Amino acid sequence: MSKQIVIVGAGPGGLATAMRLASQGYQVQIFEAADRVGGRMRGFEEGSYAFDTGPTILQVPRVYEELFTESGLKLSDYIHFKQLDPNTRLHFWDGSQLDLTSNLDAFKAQLASMRADLPEAFDHWYAEHVRKNLLGYKPYLGTPVRPILGYLRPDEIAAALSFRPWESLYQHFWRFFKDERLVYALSYSSKYLGMHPTLCSSIFSLIPFLEFADGVWHPEGGFRALAQSMAQAARDLGVQIHLNCPVKQVWIEQNCARGVELATSDRIPADAVVVNADFGYGIRHLVPESARGRYSDRKLNRLQFSCSTFMLYLGINRRYENLPHHQLYLSDRIRSRERPWVDDSALDEKDPPFYVCNPTIVDPSNAPAGHSTLFVLVPIPNTSHNVDWVTSQQAYRDLIIQRMSLLGYDNLEQHIVTETCYTAPTWRDDYRVHLGAVFNLTHSWNQLGPFRPPIRSDSLRRLYWIGGAVHPGSGLLTILEAARSATTFVRQDLDMPSLVTKSGNQ
Ligand SMILES: Cc1cc2nc3c(=O)[nH]c(=O)nc-3n(C[C@H](O)[C@H](O)[C@H](O)COP(=O)(O)OP(=O)(O)OC[C@H]3O[C@@H](n4cnc5c(N)ncnc54)[C@H](O)[C@@H]3O)c2cc1C
Repeated sequence: MSKQIVIVGAGPGGLATAMRLASQGYQVQIFEAADRVGGRMRGFEEGSYAFDTGPTILQVPRVYEELFTESGLKLSDYIHFKQLDPNTRLHFWDGSQLDLTSNLDAFKAQLASMRADLPEAFDHWYAEHVRKNLLGYKPYLGTPVRPILGYLRPDEIAAALSFRPWESLYQHFWRFFKDERLVYALSYSSKYLGMHPTLCSSIFSLIPFLEFADGVWHPEGGFRALAQSMAQAARDLGVQIHLNCPVKQVWIEQNCARGVELATSDRIPADAVVVNADFGYGIRHLVPESARGRYSDRKLNRLQFSCSTFMLYLGINRRYENLPHHQLYLSDRIRSRERPWVDDSALDEKDPPFYVCNPTIVDPSNAPAGHSTLFVLVPIPNTSHNVDWVTSQQAYRDLIIQRMSLLGYDNLEQHIVTETCYTAPTWRDDYRVHLGAVFNLTHSWNQLGPFRPPIRSDSLRRLYWIGGAVHPGSGLLTILEAARSATTFVRQDLDMPSLVTKSGNQ
């Protein structure tokens, strides 16, 4: 009989791991607490409008192709992706704007109008990143983590040093461009790694490069459709998905995961358990402290978590046809290097940077004819900073609606038909995300690689973690890569135990 795997959670990480494991012959069951799959990207409907809740930026479509192909399926039988142009429109504090686009000639034409030498500087930066991608992507993102000593290979160190990984993203982009608008334009993704560009390592300059090189894409029907298509693919491979089925705890005997205990107190036995619940939440709620190894409450309290996000999901009775899919307002505040602005430890009630997605223009399926939906995201403190949302929420909502004219959303208030607002406690309570820190653990050096919680538990046998807070890191691209590593570990432990000691992978 084939081996039984239980997965806790049907977020992107749980679904991708389920597809891979089922395609390799394991009997897989997913237990999901919510009434639908997708985790942070599960989406919702309100009246005749449909909304994505979390991800809106799809990078490196190859990773999705590989997930389906390596599971014996064809991505295009389940979902189609559309490439966006521009990738993102940025509005700066001084009123100027810049379109990030994978049409490099068009991008360089904009740079030339900013300063004559910028196109050549960009060519140098791009050429360096073709090399950086070749040397850095696979060994650090696309393969399982190594023990610390495994990173001390002279050839790799020599190659890495030429990219100056000790520089911050700010220093890195300043060295190439010496224009603050460009520095922040190309490093804004550090926010999604939980960090300010002056604190985030320049190794992450690979993210804007991948967007230039591979484009930014949108799944038809939205990211909630992507979640549904991954769930359908998993079911087609034989995976059973149980919705509305919260897991109470991992069932542990003799330091080994034996299955899970559901909230109903039923026990589901398994040969291995993969936890896709958010690590910060799951390690506290699903594993007793005595079995957590190095992740005691004390250690967990010392980990650094990302910001949270204030969200407005608006159904509106008009379309903004001329405004692009992704827009970002980079306010003057992001140039501050002082607390609380560098670490999002206080609510910015004057001039916060914010992001708006206008998906109906490329994907009209989410609203009635002539109407559209808008997705508004503002980085805010996570719940450890005690913002009182009961008193702040309405005023903050009013501020953001009024500021949206900065991105061209004029007279918005009068067009709003439906409105849903999330604050940090929503992510914490409804999505079970520790501190509502939606981008998980920050990606500081002390929380990367062998210092990040591992996929294969180091305290319990046959227990694995998949998701944004564990190795290699947050974001769909990374989590999908991690699902491959999780599957490798399960196979090594259940079917090829002799390989474990040889590979030494954690
Ligand atoms: C507003 C926002 C914008 C984002 N934008 C992007 C973007 O543009 N691009 C990008 O790549 N990433 C983006 N992200 C990040 C991305 O959404 C996350 O990295 C990703 O969803 C994390 O996936 P996951 O599999 O780790 O877990 P989750 O999505 O958190 O899924 C975990 C699942 O486990 C379930 N669960 C928890 N506890 C239990 C239990 N006890 N029993 C059963 N089930 C349980 C939960 O209900 C959930 O379904 C964004 C996130 C947010 C919130």
